[in-house]
Amino acid sequence: SKKSRLDRFLSRHLSVKRSDIRLVLAQKRVRVDGVIATDMQQPIDQFSRIELDGSLLQAQQPCYVLMHKPVGVVSATKDDIHKTVLDLLRLEHPEQSWDDVHIVGRLDLNSSGLLLLTNHGDWSRQMMSPDHKVSKVYDVTLGNPVDIERYSEAFKQGMHFAYEDIVTLPAELEQISEYVVRVCLVEGRYHQIKRMFGRFRNPVIKLHRISIGSIHLDRTLLPGQSRLLTDDEVNAIT
Ligand code: URA
Repeated sequence: SKKSRLDRFLSRHLSVKRSDIRLVLAQKRVRVDGVIATDMQQPIDQFSRIELDGSLLQAQQPCYVLMHKPVGVVSATKDDIHKTVLDLLRLEHPEQSWDDVHIVGRLDLNSSGLLLLTNHGDWSRQMMSPDHKVSKVYDVTLGNPVDIERYSEAFKQGMHFAYEDIVTLPAELEQISEYVVRVCLVEGRYHQIKRMFGRFRNPVIKLHRISIGSIHLDRTLLPGQSRLLTDDEVNAIT
């Protein structure tokens, strides 16, 4: 998130010199999250509640949304051709401003399932960082029958992606039926699953994300619908 220091924030907001900020603080006119601030260098972010003489300068609320992304809608905030997931959010909850919201781990246009959105950059970085090993689980329908032994071995070993010059992290497969396999990844490279099955000349017909970490797609949520995360879901990885 937008990390800053109190003096920088105040001098930007009040258009006063930083040397004058010292005085304002000494007069005990500034509160951060309800507490009188004295330290010029106090770290703050966009969610800090900052008051001067009792009036609010900033107090953004973090928000976390879980959406059932439908096929045919783009994981983007703007698009010239297709409807976006942000359009869906604005339609469902027009009373709220969604301007600062970004997507946590995109799904392709023709993929569906669990999509997370938030205005909290630190949180989404943690969710997506390969270091945190947060698992993303997908149900994948293939064009040809699943050869589970061969595929499992290759997904476990990792594949070299020449364009990025990386080797994919160990991934797990579980066969669901002749054409359907459940894939568990801890990263999210561009078109990763399609490219991995492409190595076996097996095209992905359907791709549906069912979970990210301990956050699962509700069965009651229809495509296009969304809800806010619970506190437990938000705090699960932090
Ligand atoms: N891998 C893909 O190829 N597409 C997605 O949408 C997600 C993972």
